[in-house]
Amino acid sequence: MIVMKFGGSSVESASAIERVAGIVRRVVARNPVVVVSAMGKTTQQLLNMGEEAAAGKKERALESLRTLRQMHEREIGALLPASGESEVRQILDGHFGEMGELLEQLSAEGEFTPESVDALSSYGERLSSRLIALVFSNVGMNAAHVDARCVVLTDARHKAATPLYPQTYARARDKILPLISQGKVSVLGGFIGATESGVTTTLGRGGSDFSAAIIGAGIGAEEIQIWTDVDGVMTCDPKLVPEARRVKTISFAEAAELAYFGAKVLHPSTLVPAIEKNIPVVVLNSRRPEIAGTRIVAEAVPCSNVIKAISCKRGIYIVNMRSTRMLMAHGFLNRIFEIFSRAETAVDMLASSEVSVSLTIDDPARLTEICQALREFSDVSVEKDQAIVCIVGDNLRDTPGVAARTFGALQGINIRMISQGASLLNLGFVVAARDAEKTVKLLHQEFFRCADPTVFD
Ligand code: ADP
Ligand code: ASP
Ligand code: MG
Repeated sequence: MIVMKFGGSSVESASAIERVAGIVRRVVARNPVVVVSAMGKTTQQLLNMGEEAAAGKKERALESLRTLRQMHEREIGALLPASGESEVRQILDGHFGEMGELLEQLSAEGEFTPESVDALSSYGERLSSRLIALVFSNVGMNAAHVDARCVVLTDARHKAATPLYPQTYARARDKILPLISQGKVSVLGGFIGATESGVTTTLGRGGSDFSAAIIGAGIGAEEIQIWTDVDGVMTCDPKLVPEARRVKTISFAEAAELAYFGAKVLHPSTLVPAIEKNIPVVVLNSRRPEIAGTRIVAEAVPCSNVIKAISCKRGIYIVNMRSTRMLMAHGFLNRIFEIFSRAETAVDMLASSEVSVSLTIDDPARLTEICQALREFSDVSVEKDQAIVCIVGDNLRDTPGVAARTFGALQGINIRMISQGASLLNLGFVVAARDAEKTVKLLHQEFFRCADPTVFD
């Protein structure tokens, strides 16, 4: 059994879906389970519509909804014979009718709550999975749609729900294994789940990778494949550095650091279930399926380069706290962390000096409330538009002089905070977001001028 996840750009159009059907068909003997994202940029468009409706621009939102329907109708219509038209129309009528009602409701309430964000954004995957299952059946595959909300059970933390693993694994086995025994290819939407009482939730942006890993772990798959629009995990984001190289093999721990610190190719939680069940994750390009991609496995392979890749995460805020009175006092850090924890805001990086503590967050939603609480015992300042750049590699553990090489290569760039990860396999630092691209380019030149051909392509 393998799980194959296809991201938004891999299912964005009729021709992309046709390619996907071909990729799946070639491996039916391996009992594939397919997880799909919403088509193209559907999720972002739905979120924009929700914002508009809640802000009193209902007509604009409904107009965008009509355009979105036309896109689905056109692309899926191109893949089905005329006889399939009425079934597609029925699916579209149902889903788009409900989305229209939801937008009306948001407009009346003037508010886009986290619960409605999940309700509305879930339609992207609900639609794509239904429609793609239909296309698969039409090209002769024995496909069955499975509503992911009946499999992925989560807590009620909307917009970033956490799966309840034992129940989800049990449901994955109960719902999917019988279909596999009947020779069926299950098709599920990624990103979405539901609470015990049946309320729709989502796993956070980019969460379809995570869904694939959860389902793979649940059914005990032999491999979890993440099909995307690049050749695999690359030495850095190829959008920043076109010469980025493909990393052929990387360890779970290395890939998890990269994902956490901004390598969008994998949702940060994807590796959690894979590590737990020791299932290899393979990242592949749906436009160039002949390329071997990247294998993410338990152990790092020997490599003569000190690092495997560079990640970059923008949209970072630095929160600086200064308190001559409190800093060295017992419990100071504890008090700070309690405030961030109460506001359910994750801290990525921390640095302290004699009288100050600086830390970074990527979600400013509750920043005002956090600063208010911190001001009770310290002077607080916030710097926005920052970026965390990380170099990651297992060899960092025991190679001296990497920091000197890193910062030597970055002369002229102002480094704001530095942190060596506790795992010892990453070195991260903060620069202004406007310097991030240059920083990544300089580091890529420094560390990948020669690349070990056993690990990099
Ligand atoms: P999908 O829609 O398939 O989930 P995403 O856009 O979420 O695709 O992730 C793929 C993108 O991740 C790539 O197009 C690339 O720009 C970006 N990316 C960032 N860092 C890396 C990296 N180290 N290796 C590969 N891709 C990366
Ligand atoms: N469609 C969702 C998003 O755009 C989930 C995903 O693509 O992984 O965030
Ligand atoms: Mg993604």
